[in-house]
Amino acid sequence: MPSVLAYHRPTTLDEAAELLADPSRRAVGGGTVAVPEGRVRTEAGIELVDLQALGLDGVSIDGDRLMIGAMVRLGDLAGTATPTNPDIPEVPELVRELARRELPSTLRNQATIGGTVALGDADSVLLAGLLVHGAIVHLHGSDPMPLDQSLAECVGARVVTSVSIELDTTGVGGTAFAGTGRTPADTPIVAAVARRANDDTRVAVTGMAPSPTLVDPADPIAGLEPPGDFRGSTAYRKHLAQTLTTRVVGELA
Ligand SMILES: Cc1cc2nc3c(=O)[nH]c(=O)nc-3n(C[C@H](O)[C@H](O)[C@H](O)COP(=O)(O)OP(=O)(O)OC[C@H]3O[C@@H](n4cnc5c(N)ncnc54)[C@H](O)[C@@H]3O)c2cc1C
Repeated sequence: MPSVLAYHRPTTLDEAAELLADPSRRAVGGGTVAVPEGRVRTEAGIELVDLQALGLDGVSIDGDRLMIGAMVRLGDLAGTATPTNPDIPEVPELVRELARRELPSTLRNQATIGGTVALGDADSVLLAGLLVHGAIVHLHGSDPMPLDQSLAECVGARVVTSVSIELDTTGVGGTAFAGTGRTPADTPIVAAVARRANDDTRVAVTGMAPSPTLVDPADPIAGLEPPGDFRGSTAYRKHLAQTLTTRVVGELA
């Protein structure tokens, strides 16, 4: 019995939402996680709901915010665009860099910002970058919510339609990133991202909680008790969070 029982390609958001109301169905953004998971044999099987015909791949400016459609690929955000995927010049430099760091090029050109937000991976440096840019998640049929709230609550069966961030007005020196991994190219065990905007310093860390999280720059490990694993114990992760936060805050102009 194959585990994927059906493939749906809705053309309207209402149709997608109706399909996804059935828990045996799974949304597919870029499919880097959803499709391999669909290949795992389960007794009941699942149905895939491909979001690519919904027109969610636009980018626009709305006042002081950049609206990024949920189906925009991380490769396009990173500026490693191809002739068919033009560069998006308004993407803040830090977000661009973190989209590039997030995944190798093969996956980056497939993975979407909507899938990244829906998945909420604890190690996602891009999500940390979006958090310090005041990201808001826009959902079909629900009120928009700040990214930290959406990561805590999970988007569930709702479709992410776009993610909006503050346009960069910080200029050079207004942002900083630092991470420690097993090798420089590997996903960091813990990373810290800082941004200063209008005298407000925001710091987000990865690898310290079930999803990337905003922290107090003066006490970045307050209330956090990350489980240890083969990459780093609880104590090591806390030490990294403190050291890396001090470093990125110190680098801000
Ligand atoms: C080899 C490998 C390495 C990886 N390394 C990393 C890493 O270092 N850091 C990291 O953060 N992630 C990593 N990932 C995870 C993954 O690639 C990223 O999180 C990616 O950005 C997911 O995007 P996607 O569009 O491919 O999501 P999909 O696989 O399409 O979907 C992921 C989840 O989000 C849901 N979803 C997708 N789009 C939407 C939407 N618009 N609205 C609502 N729900 C939606 C799906 O139903 C599914 O539950 C890795 C994956 C692989 C295969």
